[in-house]
Amino acid sequence: MSLCLICTHAAEQPRTACTRCEHRLRGWLGEIPRQMVLLTASLELGTRPAQGHGGTGRAHSPLPVRADVLTLIGPAAPGPVRDVAGDQGGPQPVHAVLHAWADQLADDLGHHLPPISPRAPYADYLARHLDHAVRAAWVALFHAELADLVRRIRAVTSTEPRRRPLDAPCPACEAFGLGRVDWETYIDCEACGLLLTADEYAAHHAAVMPGLARTALGLLHATAAPGLAYTALGIPQTAQEAS
Ligand SMILES: [Zn+2]
Ligand SMILES: [Zn+2]
Repeated sequence: MSLCLICTHAAEQPRTACTRCEHRLRGWLGEIPRQMVLLTASLELGTRPAQGHGGTGRAHSPLPVRADVLTLIGPAAPGPVRDVAGDQGGPQPVHAVLHAWADQLADDLGHHLPPISPRAPYADYLARHLDHAVRAAWVALFHAELADLVRRIRAVTSTEPRRRPLDAPCPACEAFGLGRVDWETYIDCEACGLLLTADEYAAHHAAVMPGLARTALGLLHATAAPGLAYTALGIPQTAQEAS
């Protein structure tokens, strides 16, 4: 066992990041290309309705586009800017950050960077080789830069993935911590970090929920007036009388 360089939880050697942090990284790499579409749509300055009667709004803007958005979606530097030392100043465009890390990854793997798709610049490549990144010494810096990038993007688009809690308890730790975050591949447990596919969760749900419902009914029956228990579970009183 070693420690995750990102969150200091336990990580299986030779990993340098735990499965929970890998899951978050994978989620961000899936989110960034989707957010790029929203970012591009936010580029033009919104035309605000004039305030009050007669209008006192500004007649024209100093720039036809938003500078903060332009910084994010602007082109990368001609060559990759590798920031393993963490000494780059100023906000970097999305392309520059992803390009630099893709270049670092290709270097580690000993191959040339493959041609990229303009819609998902390097995010797909990084996600495909994430199993290497979570064994690299630089994973914490990669995580920090992606976290910062995602924070800056979300601040512009006012869009962030929502977490939808699920009703079955976690099969590993039994906490009610399972949920699914938009755009993420796996269902995860907030308490223990377990990851489940949608099929695994469906099978688990089918196996445990009928038993849980019976237990809940028994508990209600034992602690409350029987009629209340049946009402709480939506069972008509006549069903109670019939049993
Ligand atoms: Zn971690
Ligand atoms: Zn759990």
